[in-house]
Amino acid sequence: MTLTDLGTGADRGRTMSETPEPIDDVIRAAGLRRTTPRALVLRTLRSTRGHLTASEIFEQIDAERSEEPIAQSTVYRALEALEAKGVVSALRSRSGETRYEWAPERPGHHHLLCNACGGVMELDLDTVRELAEEIEERTGFQPDIRHLAIDGLCSHCQPGDAAPATPPSS
Ligand SMILES: [Zn+2]
Ligand SMILES: [Zn+2]
Repeated sequence: MTLTDLGTGADRGRTMSETPEPIDDVIRAAGLRRTTPRALVLRTLRSTRGHLTASEIFEQIDAERSEEPIAQSTVYRALEALEAKGVVSALRSRSGETRYEWAPERPGHHHLLCNACGGVMELDLDTVRELAEEIEERTGFQPDIRHLAIDGLCSHCQPGDAAPATPPSS
């Protein structure tokens, strides 16, 4: 099991072994027309490789485009169109916050969403894969749980003096 604290989606130093597919091709392969906002949204999500809220995505794009400002609603509509086609996947927490991430080129992974601080932790659980196999074996149903999200409280937000789950550095 690997457990990574993603925070707000900083670059985790992952390296791609192959040249990534051009973003325009990804948009067209999804059956969408290539528009500048859609390309900008995907570029932002791909470069951060994290879980960003719509306003974080807008802020990053806006910061890079002081010459040619883009409307927030345009970015939000682009996100909706990309999510509807499965290019972007959304995580909706109980607090109503939605975080987006780049869906292609990401191995299956699962999420722990903190209901108090909104933090997202990413992990890859063998148990979940086994669960998916068991569901399919017993029912024939094919579950899509590559992007499972579990609500709860992170170690920092639990009441009392719960110690953080980070192992001490030796
Ligand atoms: Zn994710
Ligand atoms: Zn928390």
